[in-house]
Amino acid sequence: MLIMKFGGSSLQTPERIRDTAATLQKQRHLRPVLVLSAMGRTTEDLIDAGQNALHQQVMFPRIEEFHRALLSALDLPPKLLDTHFDELRSLLRGIALIGELTPKTRDALLSFGERLSIRLFSAYLNRMGISSTPFDGWDAGVLTTSEHGKAEVLPESYERVRRTLQEVSTIPVVAGFIGKDSQGHITTLGRGGSDLTASVLGRALGAHEIQLWKDVDGILSADPRLVPDAAPLKLLSFDEAAELAYFGAKVLHPTSILPAMCAKIPVRVKNHRDPDHPGTVILHSEEEGGGVVAIAHKSGQALVHIASTRMLGQAGFLARVFQVFADLHLSVDAIATSEVSLSLTLSETALDPLIERIEPFAKIRVSAGKSILTLIGKAGRSSELLETMLSALNRERIDVQMISHGASKINTSVIVDDAQLKQAVAALHAAFFGGHS
Ligand code: ADP
Ligand code: ASP
Ligand code: MG
Repeated sequence: MLIMKFGGSSLQTPERIRDTAATLQKQRHLRPVLVLSAMGRTTEDLIDAGQNALHQQVMFPRIEEFHRALLSALDLPPKLLDTHFDELRSLLRGIALIGELTPKTRDALLSFGERLSIRLFSAYLNRMGISSTPFDGWDAGVLTTSEHGKAEVLPESYERVRRTLQEVSTIPVVAGFIGKDSQGHITTLGRGGSDLTASVLGRALGAHEIQLWKDVDGILSADPRLVPDAAPLKLLSFDEAAELAYFGAKVLHPTSILPAMCAKIPVRVKNHRDPDHPGTVILHSEEEGGGVVAIAHKSGQALVHIASTRMLGQAGFLARVFQVFADLHLSVDAIATSEVSLSLTLSETALDPLIERIEPFAKIRVSAGKSILTLIGKAGRSSELLETMLSALNRERIDVQMISHGASKINTSVIVDDAQLKQAVAALHAAFFGGHS
């Protein structure tokens, strides 16, 4: 059994859709289960349609014209998606009427991208004589928490998915990114969440491989938009891939590797434009230690300094600070501590409650507009890695504002100003992988 997940760019034009069906056909004997994202830029268009509805403009011409053009080019029934277009129109009317777009409504809105996508693609497969059945995420068994916009998949989902999809004799075409909570409300798994759906299904069904088809030759040594000569990696361990995704590499959803990792199922990232390219395989590997394998980055971070206002050696200070983070569900990416002070990074959103809770017992200072750059990979000798990293940054006069080098040594992060991000990534890439800086 094989999971094949196709992202929006694999479904953007009639030609791509035909190629995607051909790629599937070649592996049909391996009993694939498909996971699809919204086609092309539909998710972005839905976000825009929501904003327009808030300004009393109930319309979604781009979404409707785009899907109607695909239906026509692929010779599919013109009314195939009409019920969904009507439902989407009603939802937008509701948003305009109430003048409010809550996270819950936003999830319902965004779900239309994947719901349209699976129906269209499954109908095309059926027309080509490949018998398939579309499943919305919830109908496939994906049950989530109620955190709209970043819902987590609940463990019961595995058994539910197994029960539902094992029975199906045709090829299941499952909507990625969307599920429902226990009250039946639609939820989404965060941007890029179809990768996570693929991994969850792979674990539930005991797949022998999870393939993520994208528009790049696999996972590259850095973001190609910042480093044009970034090179594809042949192999990555689960730990390395999980760190890479978590520390901002947009190619993978942050938690998408974890279910595959628990079940030790290899994940292969492949290019839909070059199906014969082997891509990157992510698997369980004891062979880490080969040095830096990739560079990830996240911009728009806040650097937070917290210092105890009491005397040195105050017991329990860090515990108290961390309790506040736990209460506010804030997850910290990089951290450096002493007994009485700490510096850490957080995404820039919702920092006011943090300041309010910390101020009674400590001094807190927040600087916005920071980027976190992370070197992924186990270094042989820390001192050598840090020396190469810092001298590369220093040569470019890049101001390093914090360093975090964990005990596991699989990631080493530095914090710099957003304005110096591009230059810093290029300098680090040149220092660790060669090429121009
Ligand atoms: P899809 O939604 O089709 O699954 P994404 O657009 O989410 O694919 O991910 C692929 C994109 O991720 C690439 O086009 C590339 O611009 C970006 N990207 C960022 N960092 C990396 C990286 N380290 N390796 C590969 N691609 C990366
Ligand atoms: N369509 C969703 C997004 O654009 C999910 C995905 O593509 O994986 O974020
Ligand atoms: Mg994606």
